[in-house]
Amino acid sequence: MKWNYSPAYHDRSLVILETALGQVPAYRSWRAFDPGSDYPVDVRYAAMPALTKKDIREHLPQGFIPGDRDMKAGLESGEISLVKTSGSIDVSVTNIWNQKWWDASERASWKLNSHASRLATGNHPEAILANSLNVGFLSDEADLPMEKRRLSRFLYLNEKSNPVTWSTALMDRMIAELKDFQPVVLEANPSLLARLCRYVFANKKAVFQPGIIVFTYEYPTNLHYRQIRRVFTSPLASSYGTTETGYVFMQCEAGKFHQNSEFCHVDFQPLKPEHGGPLLGRILVTTFNNPWYYMIRFDVGDLARIDESGKCSCGRDAGIILSAVEGRAANATFTVAGRLVTPRELDNVLIKLENIDEFRLDQVKADVYELHLVSSRSDKHHLNEEATTLLKKLYGRSAKISIVYEAAISPEPSGKYCVSKPPFTVDMEKYLDKTELN
Ligand SMILES: [Zn+2]
Repeated sequence: MKWNYSPAYHDRSLVILETALGQVPAYRSWRAFDPGSDYPVDVRYAAMPALTKKDIREHLPQGFIPGDRDMKAGLESGEISLVKTSGSIDVSVTNIWNQKWWDASERASWKLNSHASRLATGNHPEAILANSLNVGFLSDEADLPMEKRRLSRFLYLNEKSNPVTWSTALMDRMIAELKDFQPVVLEANPSLLARLCRYVFANKKAVFQPGIIVFTYEYPTNLHYRQIRRVFTSPLASSYGTTETGYVFMQCEAGKFHQNSEFCHVDFQPLKPEHGGPLLGRILVTTFNNPWYYMIRFDVGDLARIDESGKCSCGRDAGIILSAVEGRAANATFTVAGRLVTPRELDNVLIKLENIDEFRLDQVKADVYELHLVSSRSDKHHLNEEATTLLKKLYGRSAKISIVYEAAISPEPSGKYCVSKPPFTVDMEKYLDKTELN
């Protein structure tokens, strides 16, 4: 697929790559992969390896700063700071945080959604419903008063690390604070907002409708959408990015994902056809405009689907257009025959079950699957049959399925909701179509 890029995008891509290879210590060994400046910039990118979290751990922090920059001076002036992320992949990483760049990356992403670009001014009131392990203020024992959860224009609605522990009083407080604070933007972890919405819906409460609800932090499932839509009429948009890369894709008002091409270069690597390629693949992100932190072809760890038409009815045509983000590669599961199943593919199957609050699928072995369900349905026998039929159709007739009922499903230690888990660590390199790279 040939995407539309501005001449500035090509220039930035070239400067970033050449600066990284020439001046940034972490990429010194990558020079051996470079075919040279006679080659087009895309060919040079494609020849480079992917940057992993392991590489980041090995070289941070100094290894990602160009040789002519003084990290100590940057830290002392407050231009940068060092932050530790919880991260969804195994272990946490310490990153170089450049607030000015982060804010600029976010502002550029708003242009990709007409509601966000109309409403977000940069000093609008914004409520955040996120896991306090990831952002905001953590207090599992005592409830924090509102003034202890404020930070400039932000209000953090939740201070708990596990939404399963939310009391009805705490959820009533969230509803009351939305009404008082009147956020223009509600930024939400979809699993947390869905939990609040189940309570609001069951108890027929009224809620304040913000100008736009932006999902971040995790993959929003069909169930999350359904539960949130029963309560909120506000436009919904999913914003895709990571701590390392800033804002990478933003969902427009027509529902597709547009590349934030002013702030990043994206390489799409398709999977092998037997695993869903060439439209399904992984994304590698190179950041622009951050002089303190050079991320080149960072493997963000998610699977994405290229939009086959290459167009969007919103009219935006710069950069890659995705029809969907399909969830974390680390959370892919596999059919009995070994085909990769993305969290979204599983999600699209399980949405057919009626009256389900939450689910998580644990693949225990190559042919053994354990479906954890939260449901108030009384006909569990029928539900078991329906779920087993759907999962056998997806994973194979010989799949051994068991259903486990739970009162609630807690997030992972990272603070994020998990759709599915494979029985082993997924090495994505094995599933990439190497003949199709870039
Ligand atoms: Zn669009």
